[in-house]
Amino acid sequence: MIKRPIYITALIVTLGFFLCANGQETPLYQTQVIAHRGYWDTEGSAQNSIASLRNAARIGCYGTEFDVHLTSDGVAIVTHDDKIGGRVICKNPYSVFEGHKLSNGETLPTLKQYLEEGSNYPDLKLILEIKSATTAKHETRSVEVIMDLVEQTGMRSQVEYIAFSYHVCKELVARDPSASVAYLNGDKTPQELSRDGISGLDYNIRLIKKSPGILTDARELGLTTNSWTVNSEDDMRFVIRHGIDYITTDKPELALSLVTEPTDR
Ligand code: MG
Repeated sequence: MIKRPIYITALIVTLGFFLCANGQETPLYQTQVIAHRGYWDTEGSAQNSIASLRNAARIGCYGTEFDVHLTSDGVAIVTHDDKIGGRVICKNPYSVFEGHKLSNGETLPTLKQYLEEGSNYPDLKLILEIKSATTAKHETRSVEVIMDLVEQTGMRSQVEYIAFSYHVCKELVARDPSASVAYLNGDKTPQELSRDGISGLDYNIRLIKKSPGILTDARELGLTTNSWTVNSEDDMRFVIRHGIDYITTDKPELALSLVTEPTDR
């Protein structure tokens, strides 16, 4: 170990004291906010809309989360449910859904349109949820189509993946071991995720509150930590206090007002 003269140590301590006293202290850690289905709960917006992406960027979110399904003819579209107007997405071609209007009047966005809009906001991460399908074959095809599109649009560094399907997570990692991939379903230990090359844990808030130690275990293995869908102030404060990396929420403005408080971890 290098021996440091005592006066140097005294100087460092004094400087540190002045920086803290002047409010210049860098927070040790800060939780980041992800808008669930974009920032939709505001005038003129809608879940999984282009407007919700823009709104998330405007208020300074870390990321905008959105859901992606694949039509029977291989077009990736941004929407939550597995049906639109009673028609199952994976069993119908894109032409069936093409003109569908969202509640804010926007036309249903394709993934390509969503990624292209995201490229206008390079500081905003696109948290891409690949929805589960009825067969592993369709899920594998979804992963292939989606990853190819992300690559073609030059959005690889801006996209992070999440999925409830462990098959989808493993397919993502197999195709790109460096991709950011978090598992949503809550039934794998951090050790299992780490062993399978999954880079993060993104679990329901009820599960995190029941076993907050899972965050420490995940962190020790180098996994990222996230929770959904954290909408109450009490729950936000709980996960912030436990040093979570990300909060996924329908109330991004409330979360942003709380995460500015530095936390120790
Ligand atoms: Mg989602």
